[in-house]
Amino acid sequence: MTPLLIRNIGLLVTNAPDVPGQLGMVEDAAVSIRDAQIVWAGPEDEIPVALRRSAELDVERRAVIPGFVDSHTHLVFGGDRAEEFSARLGGASYEEILRSGGGIHSTVAATREASVDDLLAQSVSRGHRMLRSGTTTVEIKSGYGLTAADEVRILEVAGRVGEDSGIGVMRTFLGAHVPDRGLTEEDHVDLVIDEMLPAAAPHAEFCDVFVDRGAFSVDSARRVFEAATGYGLVPRLHAEQLTHTGAAALSAEVNAASADHLDRVTVEDAVAMAEAGVVAGMLPGAGFSMRADQAPARMLWDAGVIVALATDCNPGTSYVESMQFVIAVACLEMGLTPDEAVWSATRGGAKSLRRDDLGIIRAGAAADLVILDAPSHRHIPYRPGSDLVWKVVKSGQVVE
Ligand SMILES: [Zn+2]
Repeated sequence: MTPLLIRNIGLLVTNAPDVPGQLGMVEDAAVSIRDAQIVWAGPEDEIPVALRRSAELDVERRAVIPGFVDSHTHLVFGGDRAEEFSARLGGASYEEILRSGGGIHSTVAATREASVDDLLAQSVSRGHRMLRSGTTTVEIKSGYGLTAADEVRILEVAGRVGEDSGIGVMRTFLGAHVPDRGLTEEDHVDLVIDEMLPAAAPHAEFCDVFVDRGAFSVDSARRVFEAATGYGLVPRLHAEQLTHTGAAALSAEVNAASADHLDRVTVEDAVAMAEAGVVAGMLPGAGFSMRADQAPARMLWDAGVIVALATDCNPGTSYVESMQFVIAVACLEMGLTPDEAVWSATRGGAKSLRRDDLGIIRAGAAADLVILDAPSHRHIPYRPGSDLVWKVVKSGQVVE
């Protein structure tokens, strides 16, 4: 591949710790890319001579940031729940919605019914919209299958989303999402351990458990994680969302990559997570879409916890695909500063997925970056609802 020199960058956000300032910002910068990797980044007047004879992309003083890393989504699902959304805004309670056939089990049924081609077509279209709005890597969970065959099918479709849309994909097995209809929690956990995990493990990097009222207990999650780590899967959790269960403490105990949601998290939990290096996944699109109070992102950040921002893209509680929108809500409703929010949506997401090569612009990192049609990354939360992406570069290629 011919090297590409991105030059005339007004403001470059590198996130590199050796560049001074929170986001490692460089003004009047350039980035050199070869074979899907960054080979050099820095002030334009310091470009090494050997890199000057490259194909050039003049970005005309625009800002450049690392590609967004969306570390929590349920991207592969059948059907949608627009009717339920309308009913909720019309005043229907969650119980009424469940009685009328809504809720998560309706998505499980629609996902099982959908053909692979249907699932793939709508998932690829979501993946493609995400990529074009600046997300260069997305985590995708299973969890709408709840049988070995259906969970594997979702994870296989998730893998093909990456191939067909061009977005980077990492996969998480979430067989312990909710107990399947007609099964007790214990029976469902047995099914996860005996049947789903052996079949799904080759198709995933992580194993997630939804710990909450109506889902799974801390003890059940511990059993699932013991089995999952035997297959080489790294734990991550849905934790402390509706009720405080002790899931955040469990995340520290099992060295989980992340604990996400955390609406009810305590200061003690935050200290334990910070010490264990567990990333806190903040999902402001869910609080926004449910008109609920937002998780205490400010407290977690100030307690020294690594924060990641993600969309939680799912058909029930957060049908959000745009990380730009998530950054805006994180600033306006969670109290993160624009710099903190952009870091959390890029480097924070990479840490949640344990990817040292993502969310950072320095030699050796993946050549995944976003050129904003704005002079600064601070315009993202400042101008909510606008797509400020000018061009996306994924694995060194400009996305068309
Ligand atoms: Zn989720």
